[in-house]
Amino acid sequence: MPKVVTRFAPSPTGFLHIGGARTALYNWLYARRHNGSFFLRIEDTDRARSTDAAIKAILSGMKWLGLDWDGEAVSQFDRAARHQAVAEEMLANGAAYKCYASAEETATLRAQARESGAVFRGDMWRDRTPDAETTKKPYSIRIKTPRDGETTITDEVQGAVKVHNATLDDMIILRSDGTPTYMLAVVVDDHDMEVTHVIRGDDHLNNAFRQAQIYRAMKWDMPVYAHIPLIHGADGKKLSKRHGALGVDAYAEMGFLPAAMRNYLLRLGWSHGDDEIISTEQAIEWFNLGNVGRGPARFDFDKLDSLNAHYLRQMNPANILPMIENELENTIETTLSDIERKRILRALPSIVERAKRLPDIIDASTLYCNMRPISVTEKAANMLSEQGSLMQDAANELEAITDWSTEVIKAAIMSFAQARDLKMGTVMQPIRAAVTGGAPSGDLVELLEILGQKEVLGRLGDQANA
Ligand code: GLU
Repeated sequence: MPKVVTRFAPSPTGFLHIGGARTALYNWLYARRHNGSFFLRIEDTDRARSTDAAIKAILSGMKWLGLDWDGEAVSQFDRAARHQAVAEEMLANGAAYKCYASAEETATLRAQARESGAVFRGDMWRDRTPDAETTKKPYSIRIKTPRDGETTITDEVQGAVKVHNATLDDMIILRSDGTPTYMLAVVVDDHDMEVTHVIRGDDHLNNAFRQAQIYRAMKWDMPVYAHIPLIHGADGKKLSKRHGALGVDAYAEMGFLPAAMRNYLLRLGWSHGDDEIISTEQAIEWFNLGNVGRGPARFDFDKLDSLNAHYLRQMNPANILPMIENELENTIETTLSDIERKRILRALPSIVERAKRLPDIIDASTLYCNMRPISVTEKAANMLSEQGSLMQDAANELEAITDWSTEVIKAAIMSFAQARDLKMGTVMQPIRAAVTGGAPSGDLVELLEILGQKEVLGRLGDQANA
C-alpha cells in the first residue's frame, strides 16, 4: 500500500464547527494509524467569504483539539496558477472547451431548464465553433463530461454509489476572470498533495461525481473516498446551534477537555464494539473506515458531559489548576494566594468527583478561597437563623481543637453531638451552612480540614455575628 495521505480541507468562512472537527479528527487518526501524513489545506478560493479571523479560528481549534498537521497549512488560493495550468492542459488535450456564454445568457438557460424540468448541462458551446468576433470575448473553461455511461464512486462508508453521466453538467473549471472553481482546485490540490484518502462529510458526495470527471480527464488516480454521515441533533433533526453546532472554541469555553472532545467526536460516527471510553492512543490503534456508521450520528451533550467528567477525574490536580486559574481569579477578583492554591490542590480530587465541566470546578474552588464574609443563600440563612446557637456552640468546640486533622475534627463533632443527644448530621447542617454559605460542597470534615481552623472559625464567627 502506498503511504497514506489524508487532509482536512476547511473553507475559512466561519469557525471550526463540530462537524468539521470530527472530519479533521478522522483524517488525523487515519493518517496516524497508518504512519501516513495529515495535511491541512485552507480552501480560501472564495475570496468574498473567506476571512483571516476564520483561518485563525480553524488553526487554534485544531491546536486546541491536539490535531497536529504535517508541514505548513496550505492556502488553496496561493495555488491558483497551478489550477489554471491544469485547466489549460485540459483545454489543450480536448477534455475541456471554451464557453463564450455570458453570465446573463447562462442564467436564462439555467432558468429555462429548471422550468422544463431538464438537466442544465451548461453545454451551449460544447459542439460549437466560435466566429472570429466571438473569440475576442471573454470565456470560461468547461469540462467535457461524458454523456453516456455511469460514474461510480466506491465509497468506504457509502458503498458503491452510481450516477448516470447524462445527469452531470459540463461544469466550469476556470471562470472568465481566470479564477479556478472550487471543484477544480480540490482535485488538483488532492492530486498534487498525493492525497490517498478523502474522508469528509457526505454533503460532498455529489461533488465526488463531478470531481471524478476531472480525475478521468487528467488520467489521475482517484483517492479512496469515505463520506461520513452528517451529525444530527439529539432529536434527530439537522444540527443547529441549539443542538451544539458551535465552534470548537465554544466547547473550550464551556469547559470541555480536548481529550474528552476527541473521544466524543470519535464515537460520534464510529464505533469499536461497545467501547465508550477510548483514549487517543487506543483510537490511533483501532481507527478504521469500516466501522464508520452509515446513519447520521446524534449529538448528545449528556454523553459529552459524562466523558468530560471521566477525563477530568483522570487528570492530576497539578495540571487542572493552571486550566482554571485565570477564570478563578476573575471570579474572586484577586490573585490566588499560596495558601488558597494549596487548599485547592488538596480539594481537587473530591471537587472533580462532582464536576462535569471546568466551570463546575471553578465554582467549587471558590469555597477554598478567602472570601469572608462569604455570601449566603436564603436557604442557608434560614437554617442559620434557626440553628444559630447550635452553630455557635459547635464553633466553640472546634476552637478548642489543638491539632486540626480530619480525625480530630470528626471526633469533636461526634462527641459534641452525642453529648446533646443529636445526630451528627444535625450538628453538621448549621456548620455547613456557615462555612459554605449554602454552596454545593462535598464531605464537610474534609472541607473544614483543608480550609484550616482559622478560616473555619472566621466563617462561623461571621455568621454568628450576622
Ligand atoms: N472545503 C470543503 C468544506 O469546508 C471541504 C472540501 C473537501 O473536503 O473536499 O466543506
